[in-house]
Amino acid sequence: MMGSGCQSLWRASATDAPQLRALEGSHQVDVVIVGGGFTGLSTALHLAKEGIAVLLLEADELGYGGSGRNVGLVNAGVWLEPDLLDKQLGKEAGRQMYDALAVAPEFVFKLIEEYSIECEATRNGTLHAGVGQAGLAQLERRFAQLKQRGAPVSLLAAKDAQARIGSDKFNGALFDPRAGTIQPLSYVRGLAKAAIKEGAKLFECSPVTGLTSSQGNWLVKTPHGEVTTSKVILATNAYCQHGVANQSSKFVPIAYSQLASQPLTSSQLAQVLPNKEGVWDTCTVMSSFRLDLRGRLIFGGMGAEGRVLSNWASQRVRELFPSLGELAWEYSWTGNIAYSADHLPHCQQLKDGLLSISGYSGRGIGPGTVMGMELAQWITGQREMLSVPMTKLKDIPFREIQRIFYELGAQTYHLGQKVHVLR
Ligand SMILES: Cc1cc2nc3c(=O)[nH]c(=O)nc-3n(C[C@H](O)[C@H](O)[C@H](O)COP(=O)(O)OP(=O)(O)OC[C@H]3O[C@@H](n4cnc5c(N)ncnc54)[C@H](O)[C@@H]3O)c2cc1C
Repeated sequence: MMGSGCQSLWRASATDAPQLRALEGSHQVDVVIVGGGFTGLSTALHLAKEGIAVLLLEADELGYGGSGRNVGLVNAGVWLEPDLLDKQLGKEAGRQMYDALAVAPEFVFKLIEEYSIECEATRNGTLHAGVGQAGLAQLERRFAQLKQRGAPVSLLAAKDAQARIGSDKFNGALFDPRAGTIQPLSYVRGLAKAAIKEGAKLFECSPVTGLTSSQGNWLVKTPHGEVTTSKVILATNAYCQHGVANQSSKFVPIAYSQLASQPLTSSQLAQVLPNKEGVWDTCTVMSSFRLDLRGRLIFGGMGAEGRVLSNWASQRVRELFPSLGELAWEYSWTGNIAYSADHLPHCQQLKDGLLSISGYSGRGIGPGTVMGMELAQWITGQREMLSVPMTKLKDIPFREIQRIFYELGAQTYHLGQKVHVLR
């Protein structure tokens, strides 16, 4: 059942945003960042900390993109299994990226502590829940690879997974104690306040509409202002707007939607995720669930918002947690995930002094925050390379067809589950 006020829970429950203006007049700085999500804000924060004059331009409001819409699972590593990472990048580069992102949750939670960011930070780990025998086999493979690299993960048998999740529908779960959950939009706003505190200048409602280079400098234009700089970082991921150095041909945008219930009662809360881990499953058409600070159940699935998805979500929650009864969904929202061809984020040096970082493929809280720090170190000469590949990405062929294929696949899957239930 859908409540009346269908909007994002994160927007409704976030901490106050910093009061920002739109850019006006002419400015000159060392670095301009385009995009106010985790990547852009972390880069701004870490550059400002090093005394670099940095200015960030956000087309809409901070967190308008994936950073304000995601599930809030602060996971270690990337989507790919560690062995696949080695296979794709080579052993040395794979290991370097693995090591950098294995500690990403630690980095995020430390930053939250350092700047006293109020964002419902809960570091109780996450559970990757196995659906069916194939799901369990996937978890066993991941577990072996992670253990081999020294990760403190554990593989829970079905009975233990049931106790942790509150549902008997999973064949096991991979528990990662390094991970946790946050209120993502509050984290965005906290990062912004930290960046401002360190001296970064941030502007909202300032879409970059023009980008031209001349004699080693870039002129960055917005509707009411302009900035001269020697370096521009495009941190726009799946939300490139206004066609400026548009990188959208390098990834497939996949919709992922979430619904949040009314706060559960204390007896309901005792039955679902008693330790408050965040969960996502092994299905190809993935779903996720977690609780927020007020005890709302937040359920997500691949595909665009709408009746098919919300009916399926209600049905799936009834299957997973029959004792909860019928939940009313009070919030719903959608975001686009940027799936790159190899499911890895890439940093591209598009031209001299023009960099772009994108393609997080659904895991960008830790990686975006860490990459922001690494970019700042790279710009200030403290590191030679980033931990993500620094390669030019090729255009993804038939990108729109792939997007439609994923969307139709998700809808068919959700409808199929419904039909199965109605029989
Ligand atoms: C529904 C969903 C669920 C997810 N769940 C998780 C999760 O649980 N855990 C996890 O780790 N990751 C998750 N992700 C991925 C993660 O949210 C993203 O990888 C991450 O937010 C990317 O951050 P970013 O700063 O690079 O880009 P974004 O947050 O997308 O920010 C890009 C910004 O650039 C701005 N912009 C674009 N064009 C211009 C312009 N011309 N001028 C000025 N500004 C511009 C946009 O308005 C936008 O605000 C999820 C993503 C989605 C969509």
